[in-house]
Amino acid sequence: MYLSKLFIPITKDLPAEAKIKSHQLMLRTGMIKQSSAGIYSWLPLGFKVMKKIEKIVREEQNSVGAQEMLMPTIQSSEIWKESGRYDDYGEEMLRITDRQGREMLYGPTNEELITDVFRSSIKSYKSLPQILYHIQWKFRDEIRPRFGVMRCKEFYMKDAYSFDLSDEEAKKSYNKMFFSYLKTFNRLGLKAIPMSAETGPIGGDLSHEFIILADTGESKIYTDKKIFEINLKNYKFNDLSLKKMREDFTQIYTATDEKFDKDDFDKKVEKKNQVIAKGIEVGHIFYFSDKYSIPMNCMIDDKEGKKISVKMGSYGIGVSRLVAATIEANYNNDVMKWPKSISPFDVVIIPSISKNNKENLQKAEKIYKDLKKQNIDVLLDDVDENMSNKFKKHDLIGVPYQIIVGSKSEGSNLEFKELNLKSELLSLDNIKSKIKT
Ligand code: ATP
Ligand code: MG
Repeated sequence: MYLSKLFIPITKDLPAEAKIKSHQLMLRTGMIKQSSAGIYSWLPLGFKVMKKIEKIVREEQNSVGAQEMLMPTIQSSEIWKESGRYDDYGEEMLRITDRQGREMLYGPTNEELITDVFRSSIKSYKSLPQILYHIQWKFRDEIRPRFGVMRCKEFYMKDAYSFDLSDEEAKKSYNKMFFSYLKTFNRLGLKAIPMSAETGPIGGDLSHEFIILADTGESKIYTDKKIFEINLKNYKFNDLSLKKMREDFTQIYTATDEKFDKDDFDKKVEKKNQVIAKGIEVGHIFYFSDKYSIPMNCMIDDKEGKKISVKMGSYGIGVSRLVAATIEANYNNDVMKWPKSISPFDVVIIPSISKNNKENLQKAEKIYKDLKKQNIDVLLDDVDENMSNKFKKHDLIGVPYQIIVGSKSEGSNLEFKELNLKSELLSLDNIKSKIKT
């Protein structure tokens, strides 16, 4: 893609309404545009990053055996009356009436809808366990939408739901999701802490929030450095090993402000390992057993032919919030550097251009074609602008690698720079292999 053709409305001014870095940056680089309070359009650059995150989330859900489906955004109020949440959910729920006067709503979450799907087709223990998920827009009429897509009204969420025969079996599904979440955040280049959590209006007795470290986070975290040293590769994908994995994570001290106790912290965590940081919640998982299956009469026949209620859990990841959260976690010294796995482009070529010298541009176009042939997603900055402005702009856009076509290139060697590091002279072949690994 040529930068001059890309729909990327970059603005120089700091948007006054944006209080945190990710929001400022997403507006300045034209990733999003607010359409009304808490509701955003995703412009090409932002959309591309979100889709890359979505793809990783999807792959890691599929890899633990969850099956993708798609439920609608608009739901009928009937099922919410059955579960008892229609009144409980309160003003965060956007309620709509259709032309027949039927009460509808824009789904804030999907426990009821998935329970309805499940109960209408699954009748026997033989079909269990099941984990179903979808990636779909949600709407919550947040009282104070803020920080851009971090806390907004309409947001993109992956939500999964597990169905099991017993509490014991259900915990196995829970552990699979726990594992899948940690793998997902690893691939996004984020340090995530699973934190035992209150279950709130979703209910139940087992729940974890996944919090990533970022200076501007809403929650304060206290933990032990050791939590980042646990290597997921040491666990196998079987029930016993995954149980051990969850135990290994959860036995390490973690607390947010509400539960923090200084004496306890000092007793359980060596001084040199103490981590006190800020974090952002990017995922939340719950085991709530038959909280919905009982009122909604979601029953199956067990081995003896007895009707029992299905045991359920639900598992959410804020896909759109992750775009902002990743920026918060990576922004440093006015430079935004995307993790390779979700960067909007693999590499940017920056030729030094002037009115009477188009030689560098031509050279850059040749490199561009060559990289394209290798399936490398390249951005070519063909805008006629001075180099220092270009560099500032690319510090914000955050493509991790740059090929600079200017006076420093020597023969067939090109100036290559990884954001935040010093540039070096490399052959195009070396550059390709750096980008690809
Ligand atoms: P929070 O505590 O941040 O309000 P929640 O507990 O209401 O979130 P869940 O119902 O657990 O959120 O939703 C799952 C995930 O969806 C959250 O971990 C978060 O990443 C994302 N999410 C929730 N609410 C919003 C929102 N208003 N804007 C953007 N993302 C959101
Ligand atoms: Mg939560």
